[in-house]
Amino acid sequence: MAQISIIGSGYVGLVYGAMFADLGNDVFGVDINQAKVDALRNGECPIFEPGLPEVLQRNIAAGRLRFTTNYAESVPDSEFIFICVDTPSSSGGEADMRQVRSAASMIGAHINSGAIVVNKSTMPIGSGDLVSSLIAEQAPPGTEFSVVSNPEFLREGAAIRDVFSPDRIVLGTDSEQAAARVKELYRALNSPVVVTDRRTAEMIKYASNSFLATKISFINEIAQICERVGADVTVVAEGMGYDERIGPLFLQAGVGYGGSCFPKDVKALAHMAHEADTHPQLLHAVMEINQDQRRRFVRKLQEHIGDLHEKEVAVWGLAFKQDTDDMRESPSVDIIQMMLQRGAKVRAYDPVAGEHAAKLLPTITIGANPYDVVDGADALCLITPWNEFKQANLTRVAELMRTPLLLDGRNLYAADDIAALGFTYVGVGR
Ligand code: NAD
Repeated sequence: MAQISIIGSGYVGLVYGAMFADLGNDVFGVDINQAKVDALRNGECPIFEPGLPEVLQRNIAAGRLRFTTNYAESVPDSEFIFICVDTPSSSGGEADMRQVRSAASMIGAHINSGAIVVNKSTMPIGSGDLVSSLIAEQAPPGTEFSVVSNPEFLREGAAIRDVFSPDRIVLGTDSEQAAARVKELYRALNSPVVVTDRRTAEMIKYASNSFLATKISFINEIAQICERVGADVTVVAEGMGYDERIGPLFLQAGVGYGGSCFPKDVKALAHMAHEADTHPQLLHAVMEINQDQRRRFVRKLQEHIGDLHEKEVAVWGLAFKQDTDDMRESPSVDIIQMMLQRGAKVRAYDPVAGEHAAKLLPTITIGANPYDVVDGADALCLITPWNEFKQANLTRVAELMRTPLLLDGRNLYAADDIAALGFTYVGVGR
């Protein structure tokens, strides 16, 4: 059993705290957000993540998982201190390290000798050195500690599964002893471990996310070509995906990637590349294609219903992907804003993200179910492929709409089936 502090109780920190507590460790979650900590202490889960509430509740009940806003209550006794705070994009594209800096200084003020600080937040290459020096500035002279880079690869919506059985664990450190101790902490998960230096570990995270984003932009570019030459990108992707060298994942054409990671991480890597005097052409193309997909979607809507002024547009799905309430960089936000700028009236439904979306898109109407929002609509735009849309009653939808036009931004439906119901069906790249 280890004593662990998890700094930051967000999508990453909460799942990690829950996992380590579930393995029998004594875990303290530390967050500066008092309301969040209060909710967690009452056993409430502040985010939507399938399976997380159950793991949180059973470990809180067992006394293995506690929450505080006070570093002094948790850090001094901790053998491992995980930094899981947010690192959003700054206006210049680089990662905003203010939360990391503040967490590192607070850790430094309370750390005891022998502790290992684990950088789990996605941080620019070289951040391990920064965290180490910020801690050293605050810690009493002679305090011995290590900083290990341990980037995170979980997917929101599947975070519990990903954290309990990760594809790999990456550890970056020049201390063999620190690597061995963190490795031991993860031993129960039986996953491959890559041990390297800190900078290489930090780069593995950026390279991985940028590669996945590249796959998405690649298939989106192929989709654009498919539309012009009369091919179906869904079958192209299937045919490509059986090839072991390519693989089927992240080859779904659609409205592009979003979320709290890909957009900011590709941007941050491009920024670092510029700073390092290299020319990241591919990364720029990946970002441009991604923005194009959103614009292209709205253009297609206009091609079918003309001027959007006063048109009633229904949207299904707002979260950046299914099974999460996360709206950060969701394609739906850009797409809906473009529709609003052109005068459309937008009514949208999402199974869980409605409340978050209302804050970002205050002028749209958020519906309570998928059918209310299509009543009298000139078009239905599917943006997030939630399960509940897969077998929705589309006959009813067609009857409710003024004109049964379906823009399927995720190629969720079989085009022929939808057309048979009387819809004009518009997919991506087919
Ligand atoms: P989040 O915004 O959901 O959570 C961050 C939490 O940290 C918040 O609760 C915030 O109140 C807290 N916080 C901020 N400053 C703090 C401080 N000084 N002390 C204590 N708490 C503080 O963020 P997230 O989505 O969990 O992401 C965390 C990091 O993990 C980011 O660097 C992100 O890039 C990376 N990451 C995220 C995912 C993902 O899917 N969300 C996946 C892999 C990696």
